[in-house]
Amino acid sequence: MTKETMQFQTEVQEILNLMIHSLYSNREIFLRELISNASDALDKLRFEEQTNKDITTDGSERHIRLIPNKEAKTLTICDNGIGMSYDEVVKNIGTIAYSGSKNFIQKMQEIKDKPELIGQFGVGFYSSFMVADKVTLHTQRAGESDGIVWESAGDGTFSIDHQARPEGHGTSITLHLKDAPEEEERPQDFADQWTLKSLVKKYSDFIEYPVKMEMEKVESERVEKGEVIEGKTKTTVEDETLNSRKALWLRSSKDVKDDEYNEFYKHLTNDWNEPLEKIHYKAEGTQEFSSLMYIPSQVPFDYNQRDMKFGLSLYVKRVFIMDNCEQLIPQYLRFMKGVVDSNDLPLNVSRELIQQDKHIQMIRKALVSKIIRSLETMLNKDRESYEKFWKNFGPTIKEGVPSDFTNKDKLLKLLLFHTSAGDKQATLKEYVERMQKDQKSIYYVTGESIKNLESSPHLERLKQKNYEVIYLIDPVDEWVMNALTEFEGKKFVSITKDELDIDSEEEKKKKEEDLKTKEEKLKPVTEAIKTALAENVKEVKLSDRLVDSPVCLVSGANDPSAHMERLMESMGQAVPKSKRILEINPNHPIFEKMLDFNDERKNDWAEILYNQALLNEGSPLENPSKFSKQISELMLGL
Ligand code: ADP
Repeated sequence: MTKETMQFQTEVQEILNLMIHSLYSNREIFLRELISNASDALDKLRFEEQTNKDITTDGSERHIRLIPNKEAKTLTICDNGIGMSYDEVVKNIGTIAYSGSKNFIQKMQEIKDKPELIGQFGVGFYSSFMVADKVTLHTQRAGESDGIVWESAGDGTFSIDHQARPEGHGTSITLHLKDAPEEEERPQDFADQWTLKSLVKKYSDFIEYPVKMEMEKVESERVEKGEVIEGKTKTTVEDETLNSRKALWLRSSKDVKDDEYNEFYKHLTNDWNEPLEKIHYKAEGTQEFSSLMYIPSQVPFDYNQRDMKFGLSLYVKRVFIMDNCEQLIPQYLRFMKGVVDSNDLPLNVSRELIQQDKHIQMIRKALVSKIIRSLETMLNKDRESYEKFWKNFGPTIKEGVPSDFTNKDKLLKLLLFHTSAGDKQATLKEYVERMQKDQKSIYYVTGESIKNLESSPHLERLKQKNYEVIYLIDPVDEWVMNALTEFEGKKFVSITKDELDIDSEEEKKKKEEDLKTKEEKLKPVTEAIKTALAENVKEVKLSDRLVDSPVCLVSGANDPSAHMERLMESMGQAVPKSKRILEINPNHPIFEKMLDFNDERKNDWAEILYNQALLNEGSPLENPSKFSKQISELMLGL
């Protein structure tokens, strides 16, 4: 077969242009990316050997090798892993831009400032072009006798040729190194052994396979009499394994230093920041497994995007099985990163088998309990860290309340809420401890922002009574509250629902009489408002919920709240509009004034009041321009 030349896909070329022309800092990470690809290829080979008996390999030790050549200015990274077939080469490197690369292009500017983010986007191989002006890749798929040579200068095209690989299956990537750019603070030579050695230590120390390199040892030569003759040296070459290959999770936590934990986290996640918290847990007895999990200190880039992958990496007796094993962790803990190493699972578990595997289910149960316990401890012992955690992943944790029935009560204790009591967020326990003597329920209100909620008319009466109100502003809150009835015997009550029962019997009695008189008196006004707004509200009634505002809208006890309706609409779901109840503040002078109006004017004012109520709760007006006109007329005294 003859040599072919092919075109890079446009998006791939865009990425290459960025690598070649714009990224000057932190170029060293290319090595981490290539070693990590090599390690993945070795994992895949091992996996295939265990599951596919037909595959034949040469049986030599699986390893990664670095071959620097100072004279030729090249660095070759070899592995004896799975290798790639012709189709795989064409698909994986050159013609398909993965979802990661789309993200990458969108975040281009950010990446220019912080190139270490590259690894997160699954475009690792292309980082070679930060250090090389030509890349030659020679690969051979295990089980095949033909090899593929891929070569490119990153200038729009790549060539593909067929040639058996002398070493057999695996991949060698030769980088034709370019000079360090002027912008590089401390110019690095990636053909230098010492540079490479320190980079492997820095980035790839935990890689399970040995990363080998021939190191030149220079020694002073001793002559027979034991004297050292100045200037005379002897050079020997020794094959060295550069990485320590420690599987941290198998060690006892007291033997692992913080630095080692952090380093492993970075290796695992490509996150540049230190983790917020680690959970190192070994289970013995009926289930034997080790796990090392982390809570990130920052929200990852792709977090909550549709194609976000989550889950822990799964190992069986140190053998890598898969990453992003979603069955190990529920959705609402999807921010957790880490590894699980089981002694009980068979090596040939597949994604399909894992779904029903009872070991996996037991591990998952144990991990969830462990994570919840760790969060409890953090909340009680280190509130500051917990608040950081909550800011990033609080809304995710909340999803567990409606979805994980078994752990619901424990999860409730982990929730933090903004409340009317001030800036500091409170747990439900703290809220209940602060409740007023005569306060029966836990009050909450949902909406888009705290600012919006703070000025909600619905709050007025509760403020007067000094009752604290929980502000809920996450989209998920509506679902959470639907799943909740009470906490420590105290009912949850939405302050925007009908019948806000907050008065004592005595107060109620007095108010009832009061209200009756007012009702009689204002009847012509309430009736007129009811007729005017018949299409929009199902009831108009006097209430004592309000203190300063004239009106507010409330939902019937079984109807969705206005915030819920807006949320559903924003998600493109059809919502049957439920009519609301307009509550009137009988002590507001507007209504007495309205008694003297003719029907037309009453009508007009009813509309204005209704629109005011909508504005106050953050709902859109049906006809804003009409409302503005009415207000202008009012200002002119018309
Ligand atoms: P990622 O590794 O994040 O998927 P890369 O651009 O680094 O992205 O690599 C693309 C694909 O090329 C890999 O998913 C893998 O299938 C293949 N690949 C890269 N390096 C090797 C290698 N050393 N051996 C076998 N396959 C490789």
